[in-house]
Amino acid sequence: VSRVIPVDTFDLVIFGGTGDLARRKILPGLFRRYCAGQMPPEAKIIGAARSEMDAAEFREMVREAIGEFGSAPQSAGQLDAFLERVFYEAVDAKGDGGWDALKSHLRDDAVRAFYFSVAPSLFGDIAERLNHKGLSTPDSRIVVEKPFGHDLASAKALNATLAQYFDETQIYRIDHYLGKETVQNLMAVRFGNTLFEPLWNAQYVDHIEITVAETVGVGGRGAYYDKSGAMRDMVQNHLMQLLCLIAMEPPAKFEPDAVRDEKLKVIRALDPVEPQDIVRGQYGAGGGEDSYKTHVENDRSRTESFIALKAQISNWRWAGTPFYLRTGKRLRARTSDITVVFKDAPHSIFGADAGRHRNVLSIRLQPNEGMTLDVTIKEPGPGGMRLIDVPLDMAFADALGTDTEAVPDAYERLIMDVIRGNQTLFMRGDEVEAAWAWTDPIIEGWEARGDVPVTYDPGGSGPEDALMLLHRDGRRWREIK
Ligand code: NAD
Repeated sequence: VSRVIPVDTFDLVIFGGTGDLARRKILPGLFRRYCAGQMPPEAKIIGAARSEMDAAEFREMVREAIGEFGSAPQSAGQLDAFLERVFYEAVDAKGDGGWDALKSHLRDDAVRAFYFSVAPSLFGDIAERLNHKGLSTPDSRIVVEKPFGHDLASAKALNATLAQYFDETQIYRIDHYLGKETVQNLMAVRFGNTLFEPLWNAQYVDHIEITVAETVGVGGRGAYYDKSGAMRDMVQNHLMQLLCLIAMEPPAKFEPDAVRDEKLKVIRALDPVEPQDIVRGQYGAGGGEDSYKTHVENDRSRTESFIALKAQISNWRWAGTPFYLRTGKRLRARTSDITVVFKDAPHSIFGADAGRHRNVLSIRLQPNEGMTLDVTIKEPGPGGMRLIDVPLDMAFADALGTDTEAVPDAYERLIMDVIRGNQTLFMRGDEVEAAWAWTDPIIEGWEARGDVPVTYDPGGSGPEDALMLLHRDGRRWREIK
């Protein structure tokens, strides 16, 4: 049974309130929090975007978005009541129009938050105008969408721009992976159980895999994606964040800076990645769909839609334990999981016939969030002492009996954290810069060498070379399914 603690009343301005992200995630998410009783009835949501429309037209747009993308269990009248809390002002991020009208919505006695759900090229303009036009106060919060920079230099420049107008404690850089229930559960599992943490190191862990697989291609984002690629779009942020949570030292407290300090240390301890430890792929045509190059309308594209790499963390805890990261589009299944493969028992008393058995903890972030722990047992029956591995399977929905409707999705949870003023699940400026500092030389390396990604067939597990990356080390990826 989920316990909903209402947040303080707030004025949330969504720049880009008419955009795709606002319609698919932010607004339906806010409605779910409203229905769950977490959003106070006096709270206000103010859409701000370029289109000229009035509040009534925006409310219709929000109603449609919730109809299409929302899933709140609502009682009669709830949507109408929610929409009464929704407002709109046409504002030009690069101009002077609309800012005073927007300001007139803001109350002195409500938490004030500004969500930048617009192209990153507008982040600086909006930050500046919020300040110069007197909309922001020292307690206001800003929520900044991804991508946060394109490389280290641009991330530093963006941090510097935001720092002119906002203190670091006011800036919420969103990585929605950190808002997922299972990702937080990862910390609960690690630090709440005596069972795991003593074994969570190079002495007992053979290797760790992080896989984020998608079935979709680049879709309508081709032009953007082709300038970015899997390394920038997924590894630098999402996979890096997962890596940090799995590898970090226990923070002394579950508090924003304590957690973020430990994550930062992991990133800084990452070794540079050697060229032979990276596999880049690009999907070909297949399954009735065009190739990557066709999707992005660039015959000569060298951008990767798949990447696998072997990362090493040079610190006391992890020296010698590789972390294998892989992510890609047009793969067999949509799945995100983290797999911790423990070492073999030091000596097999059952002889060579018993085979090789090891404990594997697999944490599934999506779909069907849950965990399995492979445990070695005796094969039942008269066949002698034969060993098999069986999964202790815990699908969270079954185990907890949670009404999945009541569990907030990543965006909802993170927005509520912004209102509460809790930065634990948001990236700090130095973390983002450190992640780019590790990523940049890898990208510069393949650009300087003129590396071309290998083509892979859609619907599989990516390029053969990615399998070889582990085979070479006598290991095998967990199947994508
Ligand atoms: P979008 O193009 O659908 O929407 C852009 C919004 O910005 C519109 O509301 C538009 O009116 C507004 N806008 C554009 N120029 C403006 C200006 N000069 N002044 C004021 N408003 C202006 O974009 P989106 O897909 O919603 O993405 C928004 C942000 O979220 C981007 O930073 C994107 O990278 C990020 N993001 C999006 C998704 C997604 O699934 N769509 C996922 C992750 C991150």
